[in-house]
Order: sequence, then structure tokens, then C-alpha cells
Amino acid sequence: MTRRVFRYVPFTVEQDRTAEPEYEARCVSGDDTECGAESGTHRDPGPVEEWQRRHTQETGHRRYRRDFGDYAVMRPPAGLAELARVTGDTV
Ligand SMILES: [Zn+2]
Repeated sequence: MTRRVFRYVPFTVEQDRTAEPEYEARCVSGDDTECGAESGTHRDPGPVEEWQRRHTQETGHRRYRRDFGDYAVMRPPAGLAELARVTGDTV
């Protein structure tokens, strides 16, 4: 007789290195309405910060909303991945 046992699996959360992370900023300066100027999306923070410096220089605006996005993959422990390969389960 077989019994299914659900056990705690210590997955590791890893950054998906096959997908580029994304950095961007939006100018939220302004009293009534936000300026709304956007840096565009970049793969590292350098160009975003440079855009902010330039925008501040040109407009005097000093407040920005910054967004960072990346992708994560859940990595099962090595032994479990091997077991899943044998039994055909997806982990
Ligand atoms: Zn602005």
C-alpha cells in the first residue's frame, strides 16, 4: 500500500539569471500634479541615476519613484530534483 506524504520542501529562491533585471525611475516632483517624466527601463541602475541627475539639473525636480524588477526561480534541493526525474513529478 502506498501513501502519499507531503513534506516540507526547502526550496531555494534564486534570481533568474537568464532574464535581465529592470531598473527605472519616474519623477514625482510637483505640488498638484506629478511631473511624470520617466527614465525608461535599463538593465542596471547607472543610466537611471544619470537620467535623474540630468533631469534634476534641467528642472530642479528632486523626488523620484524608483522601480526594480527581476525574475525569481524556485530551486528544489538536489536530491529532490533527482527523485522527481525518476518518478516523473514536476517540482
Ligand atoms: Zn520632473
